[in-house]
Amino acid sequence: MKVIVIIPAAGLGTRMAPMPSALVSSNKGAKTKKPHPSKQFTDLAGTPILIHTLRKFSAVDAVTEIWIALRENELEGFRERLADEVKAGLKKTLTLVIGGEHRQESVANALNAITAAPDDIVLVHDAVRPLVTPEIIHDVIEAAKKYGAAIAGLPAIDTVKQVERTAEGAIVKATIPRAGVVLAQTPQGFHYSVIKKAFDEAAADGFTGTDEASLAERSGHEVAVVMGSPRNIKITNPADMELAEFYLRR
Ligand code: C5P
Repeated sequence: MKVIVIIPAAGLGTRMAPMPSALVSSNKGAKTKKPHPSKQFTDLAGTPILIHTLRKFSAVDAVTEIWIALRENELEGFRERLADEVKAGLKKTLTLVIGGEHRQESVANALNAITAAPDDIVLVHDAVRPLVTPEIIHDVIEAAKKYGAAIAGLPAIDTVKQVERTAEGAIVKATIPRAGVVLAQTPQGFHYSVIKKAFDEAAADGFTGTDEASLAERSGHEVAVVMGSPRNIKITNPADMELAEFYLRR
């Protein structure tokens, strides 16, 4: 039984502000702005976030292959960076595919390229969650084997409000009992047959979800939840970088 990991890494990361290191000298000696690297290529403690994430999955014995969806203009540069990782001991089978406009399209491109048996496990993990642990990866794999679909999730600590957006902000419409809420993280794991059917149905219906589990749910499949971690953060804003660097040092 294979465990195939898909890492969507084709986002732009528009919520990350340009960093001072993006300023480089031009030939004429004047300072010019180099295009800011997309979120997953931003250096975290000297190593791109995506490389941290990749190392986490390549260190797990059960993982058989890893597929990464990238923006087309970042493919070649990353291929070169990957050669260094392979030299440094990364042993998994790695394949790069071109991502799409939305996260779902990026995952679909990889999903359409893989070869798998119905019961093989497909894990999807955000490139920008480099602090995932071997325990979480293992727990999601085991739950996906058992239930066909499983995600890492975190119980809600704050009280959760349903709101209606207004021009000035939002108005509370209801309070959702927090005991009935988990915050979905990744990895999210599925039998290949489950995720393929869910993606094919979503494509046929023109449905776009914000995670893979939502596609499996609408396809009628129950999704199990295993405990994630507050440290398994999705690096989205510059402040998340400081937190990630703090966690990495510990
Ligand atoms: O920014 P967002 O929360 O959508 O990012 C979640 C993950 O999905 C990131 O790893 C990002 O690179 C990826 N993504 C993608 N293709 C897109 C948009 C996001 O692979 N078009």
